[in-house]
Amino acid sequence: MPVTGVFGGTFDPVHIGHLRCALEVLLRLGLSELRLVPAARPPHRPAPVAPAVLRAEMLEAAVADQPGLVVDRRELDRPGLSYTVDTLAELRREQPGRAIALVIGMDAYAGLDRWHRWEQLLELAHLVVMQRPGAVPPGGALAGLLEARRLAEPAELARGSGGILVCPVTALDISASAIRAEVASGGDPRYLVTDAVRRLIFESGCYARAADRVATGGTE
Ligand code: ATP
Repeated sequence: MPVTGVFGGTFDPVHIGHLRCALEVLLRLGLSELRLVPAARPPHRPAPVAPAVLRAEMLEAAVADQPGLVVDRRELDRPGLSYTVDTLAELRREQPGRAIALVIGMDAYAGLDRWHRWEQLLELAHLVVMQRPGAVPPGGALAGLLEARRLAEPAELARGSGGILVCPVTALDISASAIRAEVASGGDPRYLVTDAVRRLIFESGCYARAADRVATGGTE
């Protein structure tokens, strides 16, 4: 049975740390597709800097030539906060015959019990936890959950929900906030983001200092 992967984030902007991990997960787990889902209004963090439509546009430009990586804009069209549980419930309704794998970093897994209706996430989907070398697994109840639900191999993602697969990925120590800071101080994000994303960052002026934004006519 084909498995749909879901990888959410603010992607403010998408960078090669996200892209390389997404590609490794897609290929290693044999997913039929991995949906990159930009959050319009993330509940757990400050509002993103670039507008949601521009963040989605950057994502689309970044994955345009990679089969299997697709941008899913549904959270942009939904009013209110962008809860992952709502996205998974919608996908379940749309693709009743398919298993879903929700892809998150080990850092995100460590805070899973603070997500909105988090136990329901595991009723709707399996979890794929990306583990970068050196990343420390959580302790406490979430460590117990991981051991109890741990899947031995990717083939197990094809049935049911509620399993947890740990997937090693290449560590690229890149963060969107560092990229925004670099651009805001007049720097160049070349090679941290794809060329198409870099172009959109400069054309829109979305991370420039306020004074520069006026000069480039960019929006926020
Ligand atoms: P910020 O620096 O603004 O916090 P970010 O890049 O860490 O941004 P998101 O865009 O919200 O954050 O990340 C989406 C998902 O990608 C999260 O699950 C996060 O764990 C993961 N992620 C972020 N950076 C990397 C990276 N360099 N390598 C692998 N995964 C990453």
